Amino acid sequence: MSSTLEADVLVVGGGGAGLRAAIEAGDHGSRVILISKGEAAKCGASPMAGADLTLDGKSLNELGFKGVVTDNKEKFFNDIITQSYFLGNQKLVKRYVEDAPKVVEELIDWGMRVDYDEERAIDTEGFNITHTLLKKAEELNVKLINDVMFLELLTSRGTVSGGIGLRVLTGEFIIFKAKAVVIATGGWHKAYIYNAGSRELAGDGLAIAYRAGASLGNMEFVTFCCNVTHWPPIWNGSIFTYILHSMVGGELVNTKNERFLDAYDPEVVKIGTSTEWNKSFVSIATYQEILNGNGTTHSSILYTLKGVSKEKAFANVEKIYPKWRYKGTDFSNLKDKLVHGSGVEVGPSAEYFEGGIVIDEKFSSTLNGLFAAGEATMSIFGANRVVAATTEMLVEGAIAGGSAATYANGKEFKELDQNQIQEFEKKIDGILSRRGGNKPSSLLKRIQTETYSNLGPIRTEKGLEEYLEFIENAKEEYRHTCLQDVSSLKYNKELIEILELENILTILELSANAALIRTESRGVHYRSDIPITDNDNWLKEIIFKRDKNSFKTETRSVDFDSIRPPEGKLPYFDMMKMMMKSHSDTPGAH
Ligand SMILES: Cc1cc2nc3c(=O)[nH]c(=O)nc-3n(C[C@H](O)[C@H](O)[C@H](O)COP(=O)(O)OP(=O)(O)OC[C@H]3O[C@@H](n4cnc5c(N)ncnc54)[C@H](O)[C@@H]3O)c2cc1C
Repeated sequence: MSSTLEADVLVVGGGGAGLRAAIEAGDHGSRVILISKGEAAKCGASPMAGADLTLDGKSLNELGFKGVVTDNKEKFFNDIITQSYFLGNQKLVKRYVEDAPKVVEELIDWGMRVDYDEERAIDTEGFNITHTLLKKAEELNVKLINDVMFLELLTSRGTVSGGIGLRVLTGEFIIFKAKAVVIATGGWHKAYIYNAGSRELAGDGLAIAYRAGASLGNMEFVTFCCNVTHWPPIWNGSIFTYILHSMVGGELVNTKNERFLDAYDPEVVKIGTSTEWNKSFVSIATYQEILNGNGTTHSSILYTLKGVSKEKAFANVEKIYPKWRYKGTDFSNLKDKLVHGSGVEVGPSAEYFEGGIVIDEKFSSTLNGLFAAGEATMSIFGANRVVAATTEMLVEGAIAGGSAATYANGKEFKELDQNQIQEFEKKIDGILSRRGGNKPSSLLKRIQTETYSNLGPIRTEKGLEEYLEFIENAKEEYRHTCLQDVSSLKYNKELIEILELENILTILELSANAALIRTESRGVHYRSDIPITDNDNWLKEIIFKRDKNSFKTETRSVDFDSIRPPEGKLPYFDMMKMMMKSHSDTPGAH
């Protein structure tokens, strides 16, 4: 091991949640180190976000925006809980609603640009949020270390004592001594062949926390954004087509040129295309079309501009995205494809992960000294997130950072357990000495394809059982994957891939088990073999804890502190209609 660094609070992740946690811990007087696998503020999902920051209309109005005054925190809370299919954590959603105005106002005070406002949101760019946070973190002397991949937590008698990271550019390992650690490593987009996230999001933080003894929950819920470009590969994963469809409309057709959404109940289609429920409904309908054999070879349907007055529509697009550039990418060819071609191949892509580290009201995990924030947590939004995850990362980052600093305050550093460090070294030596096996990238590709097919927008018992068998075999194959070149560990992409694969396999096994255990359809978890939302039996959370080389599963009832769900079982789409009826008049953000 090359070097040892000390911090009161070690924050892992340089997205919005990690940066906000570091600011809060720094503000509490802690010595903070923030490490990030990519460059802080420029990596992860945060800079990719649109980004809307949601809060209730009245508070928005009080901040000087156009928010609807008849809206209020109570209505906002009710809408979030209903749309979470009642799996939302009512105490924490209340905190989200309460704290949202504060975290948004401070960002504006710290210099964040606001582009426009809506009934329940202000809109900016993800980059504007992360760069504002980065500037603030630097002012507070947070020590930022980029290009460090966190690999393992260290514990001493069941309490976090630090961790181990890899400097990806040099191949050196670093030991961190820390009184508290905050995990803010985002989701596990990389497990899916079609995903909208960035390439370093491999669920590392969740798998690391789980290996160290923390519990994970809500792992079956994955939000797929619909109408994301799947083909050509240069645009794979871009949500620009999703934005375009929301902005200017157009038609979604299958390869037979049929408007496949017409086959659904018109009321469901109306809700599922005009509200924030569009991601789940359109993703399910699209994937069903692909299963029916009416999709393209790239698991896509076609987005066309049939019926749209192009001149007007394109003028609108040009106004917001001059020269059809979105987040630095030139989409002018897309315009040509839409005008002259048969359409653009789009489909559901993994975008947001409700599953994560189980946290309490202080965003403390079940492991002493370990905190978590943002997308890496077990989502407070239960089975379906329809409000801003950007506001979520800020609210949760602030709470987790403050709690970690308070926890660390006055504590001594724990002695590091040398056995754990030696075990880690043995593991790395083992990986480096393997010869003759497959490249990790070829295994990853097969995992990504299988995961999309069986743990994607539509799941079945048979598909999940076969998938779990596939994962067992993949775990065995993983043990033989090896680096093709061990001459240098400097930015050794294959070493990173092997280390990520272990984490991805851990997460996927739990996610698939949760999807199999949950014998109903709820929120973004849709089982086509059981298309029923079962409020009699499944208003529960599924929690996993490591048990030697296996895991223990626990189901936990949800507390209905403020509002109670309807009783009974209903077909999935009927439940969706019923829940939407109780939505307030204020439209949510998309
Ligand atoms: C394309 C896209 C668009 C979106 N648009 C919106 C939107 O408009 N509105 C909205 O509310 N939400 C949106 N979301 C969701 C939202 O952006 C995310 O949920 C949120 O930004 C997550 O923030 P985070 O800080 O928790 O994680 P991230 O921003 O993903 O940050 C994770 C960080 O952890 C680091 N990391 C990962 N593994 C390791 C490791 N092993 N060691 C060290 N560091 C590690 C990464 O490098 C990164 O810095 C969007 C998501 C995507 C993918």
